[in-house]
Amino acid sequence: MIVGWIGLGNMGVPMAGNLLAAGYDVSVWNRTPDKAAPLVALGAKQVASLPRLVEECDVLFTMVSDDEAVKAIYTGADGVLSARVSGKLAIDMSTIAPETSRFLAEQAKKAGLRFLDAPVSGSVGPAKEAQLVIMVGGEKADYDEAKPLLDKLGKAAIYLGPNGAGTSAKLAINLLLGITVQGVSETLLFARSLGIETEQMLEIISQSAVGTPLIRGKAASILADDYPAAFALKHMAKDLRLAREAGVSTPLAESAQATYRQALEEGLGELDLMAILRHLQGPSLTK
Ligand code: NAP
Repeated sequence: MIVGWIGLGNMGVPMAGNLLAAGYDVSVWNRTPDKAAPLVALGAKQVASLPRLVEECDVLFTMVSDDEAVKAIYTGADGVLSARVSGKLAIDMSTIAPETSRFLAEQAKKAGLRFLDAPVSGSVGPAKEAQLVIMVGGEKADYDEAKPLLDKLGKAAIYLGPNGAGTSAKLAINLLLGITVQGVSETLLFARSLGIETEQMLEIISQSAVGTPLIRGKAASILADDYPAAFALKHMAKDLRLAREAGVSTPLAESAQATYRQALEEGLGELDLMAILRHLQGPSLTK
């Protein structure tokens, strides 16, 4: 079986690397070709044309930024659906709107391509360690076929129902992520204003019931005030926007969305989402 992988960003590179490590033949394509170099070094085949990659492979993964990128990859000129796709299986792991997953599944079906939405929870560390949580929407039989591959990428691959169910669950878990990161930031800044050192407060959080691997994982970055992107703030802002567009009342997430949007406007989008702390470090919180 040949696996095709489209999208070699922060997540795509380690995920495709895990399929190579598991012994699969993996062919890759990325809009910026240079980003394939680490995978080629591990034995991946780089294909220059996206339709050619699609025609060569049996199963195709896509892991790109947002709705616009996924639509361009599938329905654009020279996109996936411009190739002969009948009978193949596509697995989109990007975080996008559930309506977009359903739209793409319909377009794929017309061309005879089976389609799963299978976004992931977990950042670059879990991606490297194959510890992602994968939320899957689509036909159950396609999920069953994909499961051995998904098991090489994550610790859990959960089938949730028809197309759009995976991306719906992903928006829900990221709503909690966005709120949590803002909540931790406010807690640290509040404590600092009252004379409690950030390092001590992080230790208290870590030992408490609300301590999580997420917060422990961000501690070094917070203490160094250095935020290289594992999960870019711009993607968190996108996910909160998508959650809001679902039209469900979510007062905390709506407030968080406004904060992330302001951070984007401040130019922090390419940093890790934890840079929301830097954004919030304003006079109103340090008074
Ligand atoms: P990233 O590092 O920003 O990489 C984005 C990828 O999308 C790159 O390969 C980029 O190609 C490609 N891309 C963007 N626009 C495109 C277009 N119009 N046409 C073709 N390719 C395009 O993103 P990431 O962190 O890997 O995240 C990928 C997805 O996973 C996102 O939906 C994100 O929300 C989700 N996610 C991320 C994390 C995380 O912690 N990073 C965790 C869970 C879920 P170029 O290289 O050419 O720019």
